[in-house]
Amino acid sequence: VRRSSVQELLQSQELEREVVVKGWVRTRRGNKYVQFIAINDGSGFNSIQVVADAEKFPEETLKADGVENGAAVMVRGKLVASQGKGQSVEIQASEITVYGKADTETYPLQKKGHSLEFLREIAHLRPRTNTFGAVLRIRHAMAFAVHQYFNDHGFYYVHTPIVTGSDAEGAGQMFRVTTLPDQNPPLMEDKSAVDYKQDFFGKQTNLTVSGQLEAEVAAMALGKVYTFGPTFRAENSNTARHLAEFWMIEPEVAFNDLQDNMDLAEDFLRHLVRYALTHCADDLKFLNEQYDKELLGRLQFVVDNDFTRLTYTEAVEILKTAKQKFEFPVDWGTDLQSEHERYLVEKHFKKPVILTDYPKDIKAFYMKLNDDNKTVRAMDVLFPGIGEIIGGSQREESLEKLTTRMAEMHVHEEELWWYLELRKYGTAPHAGFGLGFERLMLFVTGMGNIRDVIPFPRFPKSAEF
Ligand code: ATP
Ligand code: MG
Ligand code: MG
Ligand code: MG
Repeated sequence: VRRSSVQELLQSQELEREVVVKGWVRTRRGNKYVQFIAINDGSGFNSIQVVADAEKFPEETLKADGVENGAAVMVRGKLVASQGKGQSVEIQASEITVYGKADTETYPLQKKGHSLEFLREIAHLRPRTNTFGAVLRIRHAMAFAVHQYFNDHGFYYVHTPIVTGSDAEGAGQMFRVTTLPDQNPPLMEDKSAVDYKQDFFGKQTNLTVSGQLEAEVAAMALGKVYTFGPTFRAENSNTARHLAEFWMIEPEVAFNDLQDNMDLAEDFLRHLVRYALTHCADDLKFLNEQYDKELLGRLQFVVDNDFTRLTYTEAVEILKTAKQKFEFPVDWGTDLQSEHERYLVEKHFKKPVILTDYPKDIKAFYMKLNDDNKTVRAMDVLFPGIGEIIGGSQREESLEKLTTRMAEMHVHEEELWWYLELRKYGTAPHAGFGLGFERLMLFVTGMGNIRDVIPFPRFPKSAEF
């Protein structure tokens, strides 16, 4: 008999046949006549019910064998119609084998349910909970939908480096790469040996804060590209929206301007949310019931409605006359805080918002300067519950303007000579953006803390490594 996944069986129309299923016990309950064992194998949100007749499987035997919450088991039996609520089939067990017991006294995942804070301390076990099973399946679906969207729209996936010499954001939030001195083989005889040992083969390098600059290289040859990889920021990320290690999706398109860039961002986000609604229905239904009754409505709203677009300058005017008291004052020229962004989205427009044309001094050197010489063609996409989910811009394609901006922002030309050559040889208008994958996950799952949408969160006080 071929092994089936729980989801295959739950959807099966072929009853009265022998089946084999392998998974983990979620619950066992019953009486002296019959025992019910719920088995989940991760193939979907729902577990399958196994019915064990007490004549063949007395409760004492099940207990002694370790058929308890958390145990890994194999069940052989007959797939039959179920009388139970919320399920159409169940398995009448003929054989139950335990691969690995889970000691009922010490197993941390008890039936009563646990706080998200507690589960963060046991990152190695929390994927077995309903919540994290749902989150991880949705995370997979979203990653898949990212590749699907770009593939369907003629983009190429490029792999940009993790170890890099350049600070793409110029924000000084980089982790330095070093080697363990002891484990290095004996090195060059010359005096630089000490540095050589501690750095990346003699060069100072960092973990990437963004794949954008290298994605621009690829866009200047392949036209439409994207990168989707791990990103690192040495910021004191003790907020519910920042991690020290996160994943970023960065499309970059030759011959696109800011308008095209906004259209792409909107269409892309809508595709991802629509994909979640159609492919993750069981998991989303659970999260909606368990944590956030407005989740499904909010997701559908994004699919059905255009985003509001306005300039940073217009947004500052709105914020200055807002009745709400903000913790940080708003003034033209300062970066918006999450509280301001959320006010615009949740209170004022009640819609996702795209803000454009930010002051040049608060944005990175590579953004295209506007004719006013004060603002740049930047765009931030702001979402309810989150604030900034995307940051992007049209890029400066003029060599002269770019070098002037770099000098103003104290970015060294020598480090980015290759980037400047893109403007020297066949420069072209182009634009792109970065979508924080975990920010997207926060929106789609309705979870409140970014540490709960990535399997192994890295932040200043992470418990496990
Ligand atoms: P924020 O203002 O929230 O700190 P940012 O403007 O510094 O974000 P960008 O450099 O514009 O971020 O990066 C592009 C996107 O990457 C952001 O819009 C956000 O979705 C995501 N992002 C940035 N920093 C982090 C982080 N520390 N953890 C998770 N996601 C992040
Ligand atoms: Mg930041
Ligand atoms: Mg920002
Ligand atoms: Mg940004």
